[in-house]
Amino acid sequence: MTESFYFTMEATNGTPQTKAGDWSNYQRVLLPPIRDLHKLEVYEENGGYKALREVLANSDWEPSKVTDEVKASGLKGRGGAGFPTGLKWSFMPPVDPDIPRFLCCNGDESEPGTFKDRQLMEYNPHLIFEGCLIANYAMSIKTCYIYVRGEFADWITHMERELAKAYDKGYVGENIMGTGFSTDIVIHKGAGAYICGEETSLMESLEGKRAYPRIKPPFPAQRGIWGYPTTINNVETLACAPIIINRGGKWYAGIGAETHPGPVLYGISGHVNKPGVYEYPTGMLITDLLEVAGGMRGGKKLKALVPGGCSVPVLRAEMIDGVTMDADSLRTVGSMMGTGGMLFLDEDTDMVSFLRRVTHFYHHESCGQCTPCREGTGWLENLVTRIDEGEGNLRDLDLLLDLCDQMEGRTVCALADAAAWPVRNTINRFRDEFEAKCKPAVFATGGEVEAVVD
Ligand code: SF4
Repeated sequence: MTESFYFTMEATNGTPQTKAGDWSNYQRVLLPPIRDLHKLEVYEENGGYKALREVLANSDWEPSKVTDEVKASGLKGRGGAGFPTGLKWSFMPPVDPDIPRFLCCNGDESEPGTFKDRQLMEYNPHLIFEGCLIANYAMSIKTCYIYVRGEFADWITHMERELAKAYDKGYVGENIMGTGFSTDIVIHKGAGAYICGEETSLMESLEGKRAYPRIKPPFPAQRGIWGYPTTINNVETLACAPIIINRGGKWYAGIGAETHPGPVLYGISGHVNKPGVYEYPTGMLITDLLEVAGGMRGGKKLKALVPGGCSVPVLRAEMIDGVTMDADSLRTVGSMMGTGGMLFLDEDTDMVSFLRRVTHFYHHESCGQCTPCREGTGWLENLVTRIDEGEGNLRDLDLLLDLCDQMEGRTVCALADAAAWPVRNTINRFRDEFEAKCKPAVFATGGEVEAVVD
């Protein structure tokens, strides 16, 4: 096992919870190993709703102090963009009693390779509710929507049952725990489109409209749901709020990578022996995470890694040595942390076929509002399919890269970028495999046919 410094972590009693280089002692806080934790009574027995009680009942906790604590924690959004959470909360305008304001917890997780929020929804839903309630208090919000992907039907039923219990116990609703603070949580079942996870289209969907992303600005804090100030945070992001209140922003900031701290859920999939969701600090070596997941299946060699959901740039195996799972380290090798969904691909993987699957996904999920995305994602899939089937030529590779140029930064939302990045990076980093599947280009010149080998 690689010796490295991951985090210094103090339990509330001052006993070091872990020591440098020994992440195996890490104690999970988002998904602790407690049987039936999804049940309210078990959650309460294990300190559940203590953080909420603390901020509501202790007059020291002004709403702005809660936001300051989240800022001090260094928490960055876990939905993919990695925006600082406390800063986002502070973008909400000053309270006007005549203007409603909303929080939306984004549980529309659906990118291939990303499957960690559903674990929280299944195993620790009250941590999400408590996080939403704390965020509502911090931003003086009266209504939180939890937008859950429609396909997660089982989790929705189960969360609704637990939310009803939380209402009955007075943790949600009117005059919460007798403190005078009132706020509601509404679980909203999504319609099952990837684009609904984009924050502005999620708002359109919540309003009952077709989920077309909106042009920004205005940003949601200025004009969100029904035109009112809105903050949108990922499920895992909000689940961190009670932990930060209970243990302190400083404690949280001391876990994992200095510039991208905290516990994080790594969704590990692909050709590994033990795929699954693993909670560890940020800043872990990729090679150690591969070991956590039992290594490569069948003793095969690693060929490539997609480190943060299928839109982030793929890495060749030789690029990951010494690289850690945090934004700064991944940037040095031209990739991103994204959602922490790590897809390990073995030596037998056909990277052209891999990219074909990815381009099919984005083509299928484009909402069709912008021409570069609607047409571009279709052409990406067509061209990659053609190459994969041995019918493409070398000029198609340049055409694909040109298409990426025409899509990136030219559309209403980032789906077009998310579709273009894997194409650009997979071709650039595995060009030999694409060339091997291409036929030489053929052009007609002066009435004669000439084969051109690029
Ligand atoms: Fe829709 Fe694509 Fe435009 Fe986003 S970039 S608004 S998904 S067409």
